[in-house]
Amino acid sequence: MTKEFACRDIGLDCNFKASAKTQEGLMPKIAQHAKEAHRLDPIPPETLQKVTAAIKDKKGWF
Ligand SMILES: [Zn+2]
Repeated sequence: MTKEFACRDIGLDCNFKASAKTQEGLMPKIAQHAKEAHRLDPIPPETLQKVTAAIKDKKGWF
């Protein structure tokens, strides 16, 4: 199973997608992107909540 996040899932007009084996591995990638692309450093708690809610389990066929 892979965890996946896409900026579009939280309504951002952005093509960024990230995936990792665990949520713990995924969060730093999202944080890095949020900082560089969206100038969110750190990610505000409200946005972070949306981010964690938008993280999906990716199936192997994708
Ligand atoms: Zn983005």
